[in-house]
Amino acid sequence: MADPIKTRLYVDSPLAEGQSVGLDHERAHFLRHVLRLDRGDSVAVFNGRDGEWRAAIDGFGKGWCSLTVAEQRREQDTAPDLWLLFAPLKKGRIDFVAEKATEMGVSRLWPVFTRRTDPNRVNIDRLRANAVEAAEQCERLSVPEMGEAVPLDRALAGWPADRRLYLCAEAGSARPVAEVLRDAPPGPAALLVGPEGGFDQSELDEITKLPFVVPVGLGPRILRADTAVVAALACWQSLAGDWTAGGSDRRPPFRAPIP
Ligand code: SAM
Repeated sequence: MADPIKTRLYVDSPLAEGQSVGLDHERAHFLRHVLRLDRGDSVAVFNGRDGEWRAAIDGFGKGWCSLTVAEQRREQDTAPDLWLLFAPLKKGRIDFVAEKATEMGVSRLWPVFTRRTDPNRVNIDRLRANAVEAAEQCERLSVPEMGEAVPLDRALAGWPADRRLYLCAEAGSARPVAEVLRDAPPGPAALLVGPEGGFDQSELDEITKLPFVVPVGLGPRILRADTAVVAALACWQSLAGDWTAGGSDRRPPFRAPIP
């Protein structure tokens, strides 16, 4: 039978049978006045740890809604171990990056300031809100972790040695991404996409010398940074991630059967 629950919500609370979950004003309003749900209606909830559960609406009050968790619908899975490092972009484009990277399965979103990064602040709450919305919509069971926005050299200084960092270098200057990823060993990975103005040449030279960095090219055209993010993620997922047969052998299945 088709699954009748359309609404998925990310919550912080632990999830287990009989557990009460309180929703804040915004979500209560959304369920009651936008979706026009009522007491007794079901929603699906997930918290990134306990899988996905059906929960029934107990009632609404002024600015709140309470749910009771019923049965588990899916067991927790893990997202591929892929980080995305990117130079912050202007509002709109950075929202797009958070949304698309979440849909594409990244486990960590990490804004980093390069020498030519234009915006010098990042609204992490907004980034996270976009990621939560995307995770709810795309049936993920987790929301990507948010890395603290720091200068790129600081992020690289504490880099874990076993994590390959695929550097999206500028047009035409590196081995094609497909050639590199086809032979890539399994294991933790990260992608780095530069700012709209590109990397500073000395910065690029320094990054390229690091032992865990592998430069990759995304074809002969210069892509906007947000396009480069989606293109690089699609290549990684299809050649080394969970879009591949090998990828699903190496990781738990993306989706457990719905009971
Ligand atoms: N001003 C830069 C230039 O002239 O090359 C363009 C920067 S591009 C708009 C933003 C970022 O997207 C780059 O720093 C790079 O990380 C990535 N990018 C864009 N096109 C690419 C390509 N063809 N191959 C690899 N990376 C690319």
